[in-house]
Amino acid sequence: MTERLLNQPLSGNEMPRFGGPASFMRLPQSQDLVGLDVGFIGVPFDIGTSNRPGARLAPRQIRDESRMLRPYNMATRAAPFDSLQIADIGDVAINTFNLSKSIDIIEQHYQQVLAAGVTPLTMGGDHTIALPILRAMKQKYGPVALVHVDAHADINEHMFGERIAHGTPFRRAVEEGLLQCDKVVQIGLRGTGYAADDFDWPRQQGFLVVTAEECWGKSLQSLMAQVRARIGTQPVYLSFDIDGIDPAYAPGTGTVEIAGLTVPQALEIIRGCAGLNLVGADLVEVSPPYDPSGNTALLAANLLFEMLCVLPGVARR
Ligand code: MN
Ligand code: MN
Repeated sequence: MTERLLNQPLSGNEMPRFGGPASFMRLPQSQDLVGLDVGFIGVPFDIGTSNRPGARLAPRQIRDESRMLRPYNMATRAAPFDSLQIADIGDVAINTFNLSKSIDIIEQHYQQVLAAGVTPLTMGGDHTIALPILRAMKQKYGPVALVHVDAHADINEHMFGERIAHGTPFRRAVEEGLLQCDKVVQIGLRGTGYAADDFDWPRQQGFLVVTAEECWGKSLQSLMAQVRARIGTQPVYLSFDIDGIDPAYAPGTGTVEIAGLTVPQALEIIRGCAGLNLVGADLVEVSPPYDPSGNTALLAANLLFEMLCVLPGVARR
């Protein structure tokens, strides 16, 4: 076997952390998908958001806050840059004046990425973008399993009369047959509802719904063992809305709900995906204008690194 020369994040010993390229983890930026295993992609889209905007600015902010990330995961011993070819493959050129055109642009972009055999790790963007990504996923893998972390179920029939918005992607995904509904898990749901039975619709589709209340004060390791047993070897997509985490840790987002997950619980969820056949993941809904300290984007950058660390084929040391 010939040794591949693998991309490495630019080290803080080669270039000060505040210098160098503004790519994710200061990785090489490349549009060339050939030979690539994993691509970090930005989707600067927030025209599907219902309350505070700003997620269009998140890919840049997450990249900036990723500058401190070092290549080894000290908790899990994952060494993604020892075994996978990884790059920052830039942003999707959405049309910010046209939501439906943007949805098509995103789907086509992900079709190309997936056709090249690249696993996409996405920096959103608001949660609308999960729909075109899942559409592209279906063309490659058929309906996928889903681990969805969020304060919200995102299964609204419509929002302000619109069928595609950041509160509707998983309703559309069910209708379009993009999901294996008995292998969908939603974690962290909470807050006030439009109707008392808002969380019953996903349960009626066969989803496992785990409310935030069911997570309070607990380790989520046993939940994730259940999730792994439920999903088995099926291709699974991980969609992580930063508002699943409590606003004490992640205030920089658009639709904030109190009493959410803790950061250690978020790590347990993502690390608990190790061993699954993960085919892609996103981190959505970070809104830099509401994140003056940068902490929310810093958290997002770390969670994306953790997602990288649980992909199939990652070395352990
Ligand atoms: Mn969401
Ligand atoms: Mn949400």
